[in-house]
This record gives sequence, C-alpha cells and structure tokens, in this order.
Amino acid sequence: MSLIEIPLVVDDSRKILHVDMDAFYASVEEREHPEYRKKALVIAHDPRKNNNHGVITTANYNARKYGVHSAMPAQKAVELIPKSELVFTNPNFTLYRKVSNYIHDIFKSVTDKYQTVALDEAYLDITNNKLNESSALKVMQYLQARIYKETDLTCSIGVSYNKFLAKMASDYAKPFGRTIVLPEYSTEFLAKIPIEKFNGIGKTMQAKLHEMNIFTGEDLQNLDQDIMLNEFGKWGFLMFQRCRGIDNSPVEANRLRKSVGKEQTFNKPLITKEEVYRQLNTLSNQVYKVLINKHLQGKTVVVKARTTSFETVSKRKTLNDYLHSEIEIYNTAQELFDEIDIDLELRLVGVTVTTIDEFGFEELPLKLFKD
Ligand SMILES: [Mg+2]
Repeated sequence: MSLIEIPLVVDDSRKILHVDMDAFYASVEEREHPEYRKKALVIAHDPRKNNNHGVITTANYNARKYGVHSAMPAQKAVELIPKSELVFTNPNFTLYRKVSNYIHDIFKSVTDKYQTVALDEAYLDITNNKLNESSALKVMQYLQARIYKETDLTCSIGVSYNKFLAKMASDYAKPFGRTIVLPEYSTEFLAKIPIEKFNGIGKTMQAKLHEMNIFTGEDLQNLDQDIMLNEFGKWGFLMFQRCRGIDNSPVEANRLRKSVGKEQTFNKPLITKEEVYRQLNTLSNQVYKVLINKHLQGKTVVVKARTTSFETVSKRKTLNDYLHSEIEIYNTAQELFDEIDIDLELRLVGVTVTTIDEFGFEELPLKLFKD
C-alpha cells in the first residue's frame, strides 16, 4: 500500500516553555526536613513496616545514584541503598499540592496561557507575555530565580517553538537546567536522543522500534512515512512529525487529566469473589503506577463491573485524604465491590481514581515560604 505524502508544516512562530520541577516531592520534603538532604530519600511507605509492599512515588538525587526511581517497588530501595543512608517518608500530597498552586501563581504572573501537566510540570506559551520580554532566555532566568527564591526549589526549563521540543529540552539538562532548542537545530538535537527518551513513545512502541533496529531520533528520522503509518497508525504519523521537530498542538489552559482508570475484559467470566478481588488488586496496582508516573493523585475511587448479560454497575467513594498507596486503592475498591449488587458472572471489571479535588484547593499558608 502506498500512501499519499502529507505535507509537513513547521510553525516556528511560537515560544513555548516546559517547566519541570526537579525531583519535586523529594525536594519539598528536603525543604521541610533539611536533615534529609544528605540522605538517600525515598518517598514511599516503608516496606519493612508493610510486609514488603509499596511503590516508590519519587526519590531524591542521592537515592537515584543507587538506581532507585519512581514506580519501582519500595522493597528495591531497601536492597539497593545502604541502611545508614536510606530514609523513607510517606507522601504528603496536600503539601505538594499547596506548593504546586504557589508555583502556578508564578506562571500566571508570566502568562495566562499555561497548561498544567502534573503538579510539577507545565507548558507556558510565552510568545506574548506579561513581562513584555522578547528573550525566552530572560523569561527562563526570571522563572527559575523567582521559584527558587520564593519556594527554595529548583526547576529545569526547556524552550523551543513547540510543546514536544520544549518537553524534550527540559529533560535534557537536569537539575536546574536551561535548554534552548532553536528551530534551525531541532532535527539535529532530536537525532542524538535515544527513543526511550522520546515523549510519546511508550514501552510497546519502544520494543517494536527496537525490533526494527531503531534506537535513536536519527534512526526514526530515516524511517519513511508509509512504514510509520502502517506500523503505528495515527500515532506513527504523530511521531513521524515529532522526530522532525513538528508539533502544532496548542498550549491549552487547565487541561489537567481528570482521572486514571484501568479496566479488563474477560473471555472466561469471573465467577468467584476471590477472582474479582485478584483482578481489582492488579488493576489498583496499575492505576497507582500511572498516578505516580503522571504525578497525579486523587481521593475518589470508582469501581465498575459488567455482567455477561451486559448489565453495568459502578460505585464510587471519596475519602477524606489522598490515596497514598496501591493498597489503599485496592481496599477501597474491594469495599465498593462488596456493596455492589450484581450477578457474579462478570465479563469486565474496572478501577478508576479521579484526581479532581471535590473539596477545592486549600488556601496556602504563607508561612511555608521564605520572605
Ligand atoms: Mg519533575
């Protein structure tokens, strides 16, 4: 099959920043507890007190030196980090959210065109900005200095003419980095980057590309459009554009993801409670991993079940505090399932955590921050 070549349009008229806080949760904890700075800090429930359970939310740079990173089982940190250096602390999402709101107020003072990706990450369209500053470098310096001065936290910033390149740039030099990708160097910049680092290439696509002997941006740039479309469909075309420095998607204000859910359908229906519990447990683990990876959190769990006769029931519960672990999600999901009145011959179950804060944002006590 031969496909029609779709003309590629490079719009380099915009200036887009991607701001990414450095090891955000860990850095907030270090600020509150300076004694942690010299330690290998892991934000997770201590697995030694939880039957070896738990997933790492994030880790500071000392801990990362031992190969510890987010979404890893917490037990791994116990194995990899010397006991004398290792510190576990439970996540305090209420605090992280407050700090995040404060930082977003700083973004707002620069532009109203900002898109929150997660508590610690945002895109800012500074083509026109409230500082009336035409130099992107100066805007980056302003943001880094102000965030550091007012919150004691560092961030890395990338700038380019689109969101994809800005995101790749902020990841290029961390922590406290500034990376500028000029239009004339964008393809050269992307050529050297391994595909695992490409925003938008997930684990499945990675594996398939590796099988095709594609390892770097340059390899990707050499693939033709037909192959990308045939192998990966619409997403392939998107990556075909992105590896050439093309991404015309706008910065969309307040597009924070509203929920994270996983569901599973079964050819062989589930007929015992134990089977359902096991699935709820697997789904809860998967949901928690996505929440961690996306730096999201929520207080509401939704369980969905569908029978073989296509009757669908869902039930939700909102907790007083953020869900701090996969076990809490699972326990709530199990409790909800027990309250659902449905025939036990299920062809689908699902678990969702909604990240919308029904109680609104808490006011920020200013004493958290230095003058
Ligand atoms: Mg970050």
